[in-house]
Amino acid sequence: MITLLIATRNAHKVGEIRAILGDGFHYLTLNDVPNPPEVIEDAGTFAGNATKKAVVLAKWLVESQGLEAKVAGLKAGAREDRLYVLADDSGLEVDALGGAPGVHSARYAALDTGRPGNSPTAENNAKLMRLLGDTPLDKRTARFRCMVALTPVLRSENRPASPVCYADELELQTELFEGACEGRIGFAPRGRGGFGYDPLFIPAGYERTFGELDEAIKNELSHRARALAFLKSKLRD
Ligand code: IMP
Repeated sequence: MITLLIATRNAHKVGEIRAILGDGFHYLTLNDVPNPPEVIEDAGTFAGNATKKAVVLAKWLVESQGLEAKVAGLKAGAREDRLYVLADDSGLEVDALGGAPGVHSARYAALDTGRPGNSPTAENNAKLMRLLGDTPLDKRTARFRCMVALTPVLRSENRPASPVCYADELELQTELFEGACEGRIGFAPRGRGGFGYDPLFIPAGYERTFGELDEAIKNELSHRARALAFLKSKLRD
């Protein structure tokens, strides 16, 4: 069976990825790995950040022996299993704001204060509401974008002899899958479902926000669903 190590601690993201990809995979998250490396998401693009998250974690996993010991739930005996690191980098692009918050979606409010780390969702959403003000609905177009990076992790017996060469190889072997979901930004948060900007985002063709819609609907049409559909068909090959 294929094991996917999802490079996040965001329980909402993990829940959505599992619901979208279904039961055919064995899932692990950063919570199953002791002291994983911190990844600074300083690339200027979703692709750059997703690749960085996947490759840094994959390199760390293979740098020392004992992959199985590092990853709880990875069975030492199952040699035929394939292991991949899956990293999702995603965010919201609002046309009236020149594509902001974009790659800064998770720390949008903190851009003003210089505070390190991600910002509370309520602060990010409040900033978006403030900047959009009473911009009319037809000018409130936006999209969620998702880039998923998939990096294969070979077990020691299948790796090239030189660790340096293998590190480069990881980047070369990383594949990217992109998805976008068009919509508009509402005038106030609505609904308690989903996470992040969901209570503000009205997907095209709907009147309700992702925060109000059933999660099964979000998982059919979201940016994440679209990116993961490509990934799923690749893993089926
Ligand atoms: P990341 O974890 O660095 O990829 O940050 C993604 C940020 O983008 C999250 O913290 C949310 O603010 C936002 N975001 C990404 N995907 C979604 C989504 O599906 N719904 C709502 N907000 C999202």
